[in-house]
Amino acid sequence: MKKSFFIFLVTIMFITGVATAGSLLTVVVDGDKVKFPDQKPYINQDNRTMVPVRFVSEELGYKVKWESAKKQVTITNGSSSVILTLGSRYMKINGKTEKMDTAATLVSGRTFVPIRFVSQSLDSSIKYDSKTKTISIKQPEPEPTPPPKPTPTPTPTPAPENGTTYTVEKGDTVYSISKRFGIQQADLVSWNGIVNNHIVPGQVLIVGEEALPEKPETDLALSGKVIVVDPGHGGMDSGAIGSDGATKEKTINLAVSKMLQTNLKNLGATVVMTRSADTSCDPGAGDLQDELQCRVDVATEYGADIFVSVHSNWYSSPLQDGSELFYNQFPCDLSEEYCKEGSVNGDPVGSQKLATSIWNELKTVVGSSPRGLDGSTHYYVNRKNSMPSVLVELGYMSNAVELNKLKNPSVQQQFADEIRDGIVNYFK
Ligand SMILES: [Zn+2]
Repeated sequence: MKKSFFIFLVTIMFITGVATAGSLLTVVVDGDKVKFPDQKPYINQDNRTMVPVRFVSEELGYKVKWESAKKQVTITNGSSSVILTLGSRYMKINGKTEKMDTAATLVSGRTFVPIRFVSQSLDSSIKYDSKTKTISIKQPEPEPTPPPKPTPTPTPTPAPENGTTYTVEKGDTVYSISKRFGIQQADLVSWNGIVNNHIVPGQVLIVGEEALPEKPETDLALSGKVIVVDPGHGGMDSGAIGSDGATKEKTINLAVSKMLQTNLKNLGATVVMTRSADTSCDPGAGDLQDELQCRVDVATEYGADIFVSVHSNWYSSPLQDGSELFYNQFPCDLSEEYCKEGSVNGDPVGSQKLATSIWNELKTVVGSSPRGLDGSTHYYVNRKNSMPSVLVELGYMSNAVELNKLKNPSVQQQFADEIRDGIVNYFK
């Protein structure tokens, strides 16, 4: 174990006992305040800060794998890994067993992990400010490339009144204050309800977004929804290859999925990606089924409301084109293709509703293939998921005209927009 582990052991001695149960904690990662839309971090009986494991993957970018049979969470960051078992005080750091003074636990069906142990073990630094009840996590800088010559950094002008509010002085104008804080005049006016640019000395103004009251989440169409977006294939598995002999399905799937992720986040959803880069979901997967099961496990672990898998299609005829959308409505006959154990989606009615909502929008982008909307195919992720689940085939990469559309970022954005609209309609 690296020295950071020892630093952290010392650090926690100072932190113990400072925070009180029930107090609101603020978590800051690399200077950005983290929002917890549903499950909040809390201090447990051992005085340790527990955070939802979702936070670990989303905010810290660590990879999280959940193995339900073993009740084990494996969290990796680069070459470092931590394995936690629910209810156990032992964790494995890079293969070595260490004892913690608290255990990972389930709260309302969600896994919470002791953030200090996890982040410190994975080489992030962590600090607790008892005055502001703020936990600050700083991630390690990427490996330095040849050190550039140090350039003198200009001393930043200290932001008055902690940078969020400002008391108007004689001679100040809306213009001068906006300029001083590097904000838009329109923002200053709207944040403070200023009429006709009229401000008076002594007036306290909000001059930074941090000071704004948080928007009520319920304002947004997808607030409180947990959506798993599954970019098909990845890593060693390229998926289909386009008619140009070069374009890989995994690349198109990921591009559209990321646009969809942004779209859904903007509407208040919590979006969980089964992969965010050119990787597999489960780097240790022994076979395709393990890899697909990993994607299902992500949805289970995060208690997803819906699951959306994004793929691009291929057929031996270069003329075949159009979008398709699959869901799993009926248990399959064991002799069928894609049906090994006769499982069926846990919410076939919801899946059909979700599929229909998305299909009504999706089919407007490049049109429908002859198959179109299909509830009778038994793709693994659809039939193994317990929540409404669909698998989108954007279009045919084997068709040269359609491939060019699939590669085009503005068409990709249209796909992401239409899928989003379908999801919003589903939740209405
Ligand atoms: Zn595919």
